[in-house]
Amino acid sequence: MGQGFLWCFRDITQQRIADESRNQFVFTATHELRTPLANIKAYADTLAEADELGVEDQKRFYNIISNEATRLARFVDELLDVSQLEFGTVLAARSETDIERMIQETIENLRPQLLQKELKFETRLAPKIPSLVVDKDKLIAALVNLLGNAIKYTPEQGTVRLIVEPGDASLDFHVEDTGIGISPEELPRISQKFFRSQDARVQSLVGSGLGLAYVQEVARLHGGKLSIKSQIDKGSRFTLTIPLA
Ligand code: ADP
Repeated sequence: MGQGFLWCFRDITQQRIADESRNQFVFTATHELRTPLANIKAYADTLAEADELGVEDQKRFYNIISNEATRLARFVDELLDVSQLEFGTVLAARSETDIERMIQETIENLRPQLLQKELKFETRLAPKIPSLVVDKDKLIAALVNLLGNAIKYTPEQGTVRLIVEPGDASLDFHVEDTGIGISPEELPRISQKFFRSQDARVQSLVGSGLGLAYVQEVARLHGGKLSIKSQIDKGSRFTLTIPLA
């Protein structure tokens, strides 16, 4: 019997990409957690140690601690929501849903944000919208995310529009704005977890970079997709496509 070699090739590229994105994930998540935690500790220590703090300062510090704790809790909730969808540990609670009523509920959820800003908000619903078998709560949360972003990233006097119309064997939810837009370089990365634009107008606002990742997972859960068109300084159009069947 002749002697031979057994060659063993292993493609480590995919493995390395997975490791890198996991490391990046851990780095970003811990960084997001560390900042509010450091603030909570610093203000709690000051309250415990400084004997001569006036009542006003004490109140101010308690408020900071409370706000930071709220921010932390919200971040952890959002992270859990996205991760559960990604890992498939939550199932869609689907039922036949009246879309017009669902849109009304979505707008109700956004009322506080809309009242805070002077914007034109328009809704356009196609005349005959079929009911859909969807996970209503998750779809509402996805639309609230898209519309919330449109409100957040559109300067005062701008316009935010929600258009619902039948597509090709689907129902399409378009969220349009006349806001700051997204550069072509950043557009492909916009739905990645934790991604936030380098644009100073984005950096000056609070956000976790998890909203669009959530929307994308909700689309996937329904066999649909999220597509984005945008022009910097002109505006954006996010389309959530949900198949009819
Ligand atoms: P967050 O808004 O918390 O930063 P998202 O995941 O919702 O996170 O959005 C990711 C990024 O995409 C934002 O930080 C912003 O840079 C960009 N973005 C999302 N929606 C819009 C929009 N309507 N107009 C301009 N940029 C947007």
